[in-house]
Amino acid sequence: MDIGLIGLGNMGFPMAARLRETGHRLVVFDARAESIDRAVALGAAAATSPADVADRAETVLTSLPTPQAALEVATGREGVIHGSRIRRLVELSTIGPHTARQLAALLADRGIAMLDCPVSGGVAGARHGTLALMASGPADEYSSVTPLLEMLGRPYLVATEPGAGQTMKLINNLMAAATLAATAEVLVMGVKAGLDPTVMIDVLNAGSGATHASRDKFPRSVLPRTFDFGFATGLMTKDVRLYLEEAAKLGTPTELAETVARSWEATTESEGPDSDFTTIVKPFEAAAGVIVDGRRDRRT
Ligand code: NAD
Repeated sequence: MDIGLIGLGNMGFPMAARLRETGHRLVVFDARAESIDRAVALGAAAATSPADVADRAETVLTSLPTPQAALEVATGREGVIHGSRIRRLVELSTIGPHTARQLAALLADRGIAMLDCPVSGGVAGARHGTLALMASGPADEYSSVTPLLEMLGRPYLVATEPGAGQTMKLINNLMAAATLAATAEVLVMGVKAGLDPTVMIDVLNAGSGATHASRDKFPRSVLPRTFDFGFATGLMTKDVRLYLEEAAKLGTPTELAETVARSWEATTESEGPDSDFTTIVKPFEAAAGVIVDGRRDRRT
C-alpha cells in the first residue's frame, strides 16, 4: 500500500528515508523540486501536487512549516481534499489546536479523517525512528496507522478530539524553548565569570540543571559553534507564539512564557528566521561581550 508524504524538509526527508528503509512504498510531494528529486533517489514516487498524492495513497502524512502551509496543502486549490483515494490525513506539523480543528472539520465534510499528530525529537529522532508522536483524533483511525507511526517513533493517543495533540506539542515546545534560552543565558553568565563552557556543560549534565539543551543541543551545536541542530529559529518562535495564543484563550498564567517569547523574538530579529534555533545564544553573547566556545580548551 502506498503512503503519501508531503513536505520533505528537515523532518520530512529523514522520515521519508526511514519509511523507505522499513520497506514502505512512498509517493511524495514538496514545493521544492530538488527535495522531491532527493526522495526519488531513495525509491519514492514523485507526485505533481498534494491532490496527486491523495489520488494515489489512502494515508497521507504531512510535515509542513506553518499553519498556512498546512491549510494550503490540505484544502487549497490543489489540496489533498481533492484526491480520489485518500481516507485519512496524518498531520505531523506543528500548527496549533485552532488550525488542527479547522482542518479536521473541512476534511470531515469530504469524508476524510484527520489524525492530528505533531512530533518531537528533532532531525535525529526522525532519522532513527525515535520521535515522540502526539496523536489526537478518532481511536479507530489511530489504531489503523499505529504500525506506521511506530516506524517513526513512539506514538501516544493523547485524546480523541482533534487539536489535543497540538496542545501537547505546544506544551512540550514551550519547555524546550525555555530550557534552551535558560541554558544560553546561564552559560553566557558563567563564561563572563571565567568558567569553561565545556566544564559547565559537564557539571550541569551530572547535576540537577541537566536538560535536553545541556545534554544534546549545546554539546552538538553550540560548543563546537556549528549551529546545525536542524530546527529553524522562526519555527520555534512560531511554536512559542502558538502557545501564548492558546494560553491566552484559556486564561492561564504566561509570565514565564512571555519572557521566553521575548528571547525568541529577539533571536528571530537578530539572527533571521531561517537561522538554526541554537543561535539563541548569540544575542546573550552580544549583550555580555563573550562567546560560549567549547573549541578552546582552557583547562590546560
Ligand atoms: P522545513 O522548513 O525544514 O521543511 C518544510 C518543508 O515543507 C520544506 O521542504 C518546504 O519546501 C515544504 N513546503 C512548504 N510549504 C509547502 C507547500 N505549500 N506545499 C508543499 N511543500 C511545502 O521544516 P521542518 O523543520 O522539517 O519542520 C516541519 C514541521 O515539523 C514544522 O511544523 C515544525 O514546527 C515541526 N517540527 C520540526 C522539528 C525539527 O527539529 N526540525 C521537530 C519537531 C517538529
